[in-house]
Amino acid sequence: MLNKNSAILLSSLMLVSSFASVHAADEEVNLYSARKEQLIKPLLDKFTEQTKINVNLVTGKADALLKRLTTEGKNSPADLLITTDAGRLHRAVAADVVQPVKSDVLDEAIPAHLRDPDGLWFGLSLRARPIFYVKGKVDPAELSTYEALSDPKWKKRICIRSSGNIYNQSLVASMLATSDKDEVETWAKGFVANFAQPPKGGDRDQIKAAAAGICDIAVANTYYYGGMLKSKDAKQVEAASKVAIFWPNQDGRGTHVNVSGIAMTKAAKNTDNAKLLMEFLANEESQAWYAQANDEFPVREGVAWSDSIKQWGEFKADDLSLAKLGENNADAVRLMDRARWK
Ligand code: FE
Repeated sequence: MLNKNSAILLSSLMLVSSFASVHAADEEVNLYSARKEQLIKPLLDKFTEQTKINVNLVTGKADALLKRLTTEGKNSPADLLITTDAGRLHRAVAADVVQPVKSDVLDEAIPAHLRDPDGLWFGLSLRARPIFYVKGKVDPAELSTYEALSDPKWKKRICIRSSGNIYNQSLVASMLATSDKDEVETWAKGFVANFAQPPKGGDRDQIKAAAAGICDIAVANTYYYGGMLKSKDAKQVEAASKVAIFWPNQDGRGTHVNVSGIAMTKAAKNTDNAKLLMEFLANEESQAWYAQANDEFPVREGVAWSDSIKQWGEFKADDLSLAKLGENNADAVRLMDRARWK
């Protein structure tokens, strides 16, 4: 039996504990990230240091994290999702697990084509998907556009990964934004006919295959090349050293680019803290660090490029609204299937 004193004690304890939980909730934000811990954790620590808001980080594979968010639904503890490729960010939109964020800070920091027009996701770092050619084997003067890679002169000379990969789906989706479907399909058939081998492995494997003499040209994301050049594995450095970047479509729409980005989940409970973290990641200092960590380009204008990516030279990037990549994804996948891009 409770006496009067212990009842008062109990109720005041309950008051304290409910306060404590409200207080604790105010000071945290939960992030699901498809990026490796070392590419984000130091920034999150800095955020916590400045704001006293703890960031609980869960890292995982992009598709697995999206599946987890979908399964958890409104019970998900996640407030934010970080993933790569606008095509994947679009999948989160399509799965109805994200919500719009209104922020003048984000709108000012991030160019409009690198974020969702409705604020459903925001690009945080930029990567390009150019052509890599084997030095001494290919004269860069022979290269021009992605479209020109369907020319029979490249027969058995091209390495690229599978059509199941989102980066290639987004590349084709970007072509669908400027050319009609039949044109892109005809291109894809010619392009696939020029593959040196059935697609296998990741982007680094395409550069390795080119260096090993299997093909003369590889298509890959820039940060893989950057990572290979500074790898501790001498074989990767050697392979990357044998190729050079060619920026395609410089006389037209520009080289295909994509982003890693962030979205607020529909289930978010710590929405204020989540928004603060989003804005923090877009500030000048974070942008410089975040891009440098993975040899990427800052999305924010006026932020200096790291020394390693500066060596690749300036290029014209396609300024297509990346939301289009998601919208065109299903068409791109079907078209690649019809072209028998494995
Ligand atoms: Fe990647």
